Amino acid sequence: MDEIRIEGLKVFAYHGVLEEESKKGQDFFIDAVLRLSLQEAGVSDDLEQSVSYAEVCKFMAETMRENRFKLIESCAETISAGLFRKYCRLQELELEVKKPQAPIDEEFGCVSVRIFRKRHTAYIAYGSNSGEPEHHIEDGIASLDRDPMCCVKRMSGILRSTPYGGVVQEDFLNGVLELSTLYEPLVLLKKLKEIEKEQGREETVRWGPRTLDLDILLYDELEMKTDELTIPHPDMCNRDFVMKPLAQIAADVMHPSLHKTIRELADAKMEKHVI
Ligand code: AMP
Repeated sequence: MDEIRIEGLKVFAYHGVLEEESKKGQDFFIDAVLRLSLQEAGVSDDLEQSVSYAEVCKFMAETMRENRFKLIESCAETISAGLFRKYCRLQELELEVKKPQAPIDEEFGCVSVRIFRKRHTAYIAYGSNSGEPEHHIEDGIASLDRDPMCCVKRMSGILRSTPYGGVVQEDFLNGVLELSTLYEPLVLLKKLKEIEKEQGREETVRWGPRTLDLDILLYDELEMKTDELTIPHPDMCNRDFVMKPLAQIAADVMHPSLHKTIRELADAKMEKHVI
């Protein structure tokens, strides 16, 4: 992919763990590589079709000056989230924040953090059947969309479904949304659990009532299995209340391990019911 490269942007700012750093300040240097297609801009000679490096430098310098972080990791993450929000053309970003005057009692050249970020597409299923379901769903989705690392792109319709798993309880409201996110999968899961908690979710019996349940169905073409997180969601294809709304917004998306589209999997599920 094409690149815009910025080297050695110098900014005086006040980031650091030590109190002295937040009082005295020091110089930071930033290198950035922005990946996006530059062909349209090259053919038209029109800056509107590209990203202005002057504007990027101004944004990075202001973000460094207007905040006070303990960590250069936070400087990098905040700049990255801001650039992705600002420029929808931006596909990938490499960012290095250097701190040559860091408080280290040894002789050294420079310390820095370097992060690599790109937009990921995740499909998230939501469900609610206690408290005020419409309110929990609306509030939970708004909270996700407000997060600077996330943007809700599309939403299915909301479906009323009878509970799954044998516990006697109220009907569920279910749906699926498409999320553009800079979060890695485990960090995204942590964020979803925080939102469930905000909506008053308490641990109950498996398949029991819940104010808000958020599950990661798909994340790019990723396949992963750890104790905490399995992607694609292992039970998604058995659940009508997931496959129906998912097919509304992701019919042509491939299930990475079953090698079938969501439309094919949803249709196969409906046929099974008819038989
Ligand atoms: P739940 O009852 O649906 O909230 O899920 C309980 C646990 O399942 C969570 O705490 C996660 O650690 C785990 N889990 C495994 N895979 C997934 C996934 N794809 N999405 C959400 N939670 C998952």
